[in-house]
Amino acid sequence: MSAIWHPFTQHGLDEPIPLVTHAEGAALFTRDGRRIIDGISSWWVTTHGHGHPRIMAAIADQAQRLDQIIFAGWTHEPAETLAEGLRAIMPDALTRVFFSDSGSTSVEVALKMALGFWANRGEARHRILVLEHSYHGDTIGAMSVGARGVYNQAYAPLLFDVGTIPFPAAGAEQATLDALETACRAQPAAFIVEPLILGAGGMLLYSPQMLAEMHAICARHDVLFIADEVMTAWGRTGTLLACEQAGVVPDILCLSKGLTGGAVPLAVTMAREDIYAAHRSTDRARMFFHSSSYTANPIACAAANANLAIWREEPVRARIATLAARQARHLAALAAVPGVAGARAIGTITALEIEGGAHGYLSALGPRLLAFFRERDLLLRPLGNTVYVMPPYCIDEHDLALVYAGIGEAVEMVRS
Ligand SMILES: *Cc1c(COP(=O)(O)O)cnc(C)c1O
Repeated sequence: MSAIWHPFTQHGLDEPIPLVTHAEGAALFTRDGRRIIDGISSWWVTTHGHGHPRIMAAIADQAQRLDQIIFAGWTHEPAETLAEGLRAIMPDALTRVFFSDSGSTSVEVALKMALGFWANRGEARHRILVLEHSYHGDTIGAMSVGARGVYNQAYAPLLFDVGTIPFPAAGAEQATLDALETACRAQPAAFIVEPLILGAGGMLLYSPQMLAEMHAICARHDVLFIADEVMTAWGRTGTLLACEQAGVVPDILCLSKGLTGGAVPLAVTMAREDIYAAHRSTDRARMFFHSSSYTANPIACAAANANLAIWREEPVRARIATLAARQARHLAALAAVPGVAGARAIGTITALEIEGGAHGYLSALGPRLLAFFRERDLLLRPLGNTVYVMPPYCIDEHDLALVYAGIGEAVEMVRS
């Protein structure tokens, strides 16, 4: 019996836990000899595919030189190169790069930067605005700015109060803009959003125009605009950043999942110069008080540098466009099937609802679907009755067709 306590796993259900021995491209291989198609990029992180040779080589090479070094008051080549690389590829206004190690910590850092900015300017602004149904991670601060539900009910007394803006669902956009306008008049510190698509909240899409209008309201009221692009960046939504599609440059930007191509953990929070400047002083009490032991781990930075080189030198954007078009074709075929509702897509992500069961994260359909896909050697992890596909960009047509065939069979299974 394993001693391991797995994340988001109800061990009491005794569901099988496959042991993966190796992976390549869009395929995972298990100890019992199965080849499993990774339909969700190992939980949204793997962009170019598992074991990309350039990223693997960069990790091996860096491991020979420098494994780890304190980052408070010290620096190293991979981090310096990465900061420059990010400055070159990300919006010009985001001049400062702060490292951490996960999406959740990049969000915590963003929130602390926002509050530190106002505190150091002598303004008591600390309220955070959030979008309904959003998800920003599982640490206490990140949970506080995310939707409340069964997954954080036990910790609710510790979560800080936020202002929730209604989700800008198609047809209800004005309510969102009005609520944001009203909330911004009370001078909150910041508004944090997942641009264009809310991931864990159910792959909910909203328009670039809404993103642009929400950003404009924040800019007008001097409310810091934090874009959590932990899931959406690195081409997931069709562009390097989702914000690009709305012509929006956030004040603070959170990046993680695809930053290393999904190979090793790393995150950055990028900020506008004046947010950094508000912390810069000869007064040590005004410095940015955040660190974690592995801040800017050199091996992780080397992996991220390889990812940036791939973006610069390989036709990544063309690959993404091709995958998006192939996904759209498969989705269109499925959308016509009875029992399928809400078929939608953005970039390399598609999603739909399977009708005929209760909705919500704990919908009984969830575990049934999970088991159904597992039996067909597909790694898909529905959010309740919402099934989504978010594969590595290298997935071939054969594997992609198997993923959609599996979903089609699942729809039939639920209906029969
Ligand atoms: C996954 C995710 C996070 C949390 O990232 P972790 O690395 O799991 O801590 C935060 N925000 C968004 C939008 C995410 O999708």
